[in-house]
Amino acid sequence: MKSVVVTKPKEYKIIESEIPELNSDYEVLIKMKAAGVCGSDYHIYHGTNPNSTYPLIPGHENVGVVEKVGSKVTMVKEGDHVAIDLIITCGECYQCKIGRENICENVLVRGSGTDGGFREYLTAPEDDVYIIPKNIPFKDAALIEPYAIGAHTTTRGRVVSDDIVFILGAGTIGTIIMQTCKAKGATVISCDINQESLERAKGYGADYIINSQNENIIEKVQEITKGKGVTIAFDAACFQGSLTSLFEKGLIRNAGRIVSLGFCTEPEAISQAMIDVRELDLIGSRMSAYQFEPVIKDFEEKKYNLDGIVTDFIKFSQIDKVFYNIDHPNPKVKKMVILFD
Ligand SMILES: [Zn+2]
Ligand SMILES: [Zn+2]
Repeated sequence: MKSVVVTKPKEYKIIESEIPELNSDYEVLIKMKAAGVCGSDYHIYHGTNPNSTYPLIPGHENVGVVEKVGSKVTMVKEGDHVAIDLIITCGECYQCKIGRENICENVLVRGSGTDGGFREYLTAPEDDVYIIPKNIPFKDAALIEPYAIGAHTTTRGRVVSDDIVFILGAGTIGTIIMQTCKAKGATVISCDINQESLERAKGYGADYIINSQNENIIEKVQEITKGKGVTIAFDAACFQGSLTSLFEKGLIRNAGRIVSLGFCTEPEAISQAMIDVRELDLIGSRMSAYQFEPVIKDFEEKKYNLDGIVTDFIKFSQIDKVFYNIDHPNPKVKKMVILFD
């Protein structure tokens, strides 16, 4: 089998090896079918992901077919289509016990802290795989993980139908959060500097769009919300100052929630007063917990319009194209998915 290994920042190679053996009776062998390429894979390749180790096989948005099962496996069988969870947890710590396994104190992430799915076969414990109905094509199933993020972050933010939501960033994750908020019945304002991304967000259901390149965010939000401000804001842009901008007077109303989703390490300029005067909630959000199964059900019910969310499907045999696109950012390449034979 072939694997793609990032040996160190900005260097990768394709290695040949034997198909892995099962490490325990509870494991399954999976033949990869599709793997999404995420912003964090860009950071891994560029050496700017604080959580990645090298050498590393990237890829955390993985789906495939079960090819072999260990003798004690009971929940999946050969031939099942599965999505593979990215999170490996201890099951013992405080966070695991209170249902926050995504932030387990011993968490290991497939595709960043340990090897991921940019390879033809991998093994995983049966507990880490979720069966996908066969009518969901693999090319769509690769999006289960990013939609699990949408489900998680909107759960963290407690989004309900009464909410009027502001989403900074209309890239793939911003769009997925927007669709998830819409599915929960909320009203959504998408904001970005790229008009094409905004038009796209509108096509996927955004109620309002703001181009912050040529429109004043606060004025527009005030106009849309009739002077009240939004009830919740998501930072899906994650650049220095993006989080601070959500605290600007007029954007969010008293008792609002602000959800942050990035790993930007630059300091922000948020004072206690900015939080306390309006009694805002600042909520952190990372990956997802217990969202794969509900999202698989949503996909089965065709709850989300997935058409065009992936802009580039690339064959595993043409993996060089993936790294070329990572090195040559093109606004038209919004989301890549690697397809295996
Ligand atoms: Zn991802
Ligand atoms: Zn744990």
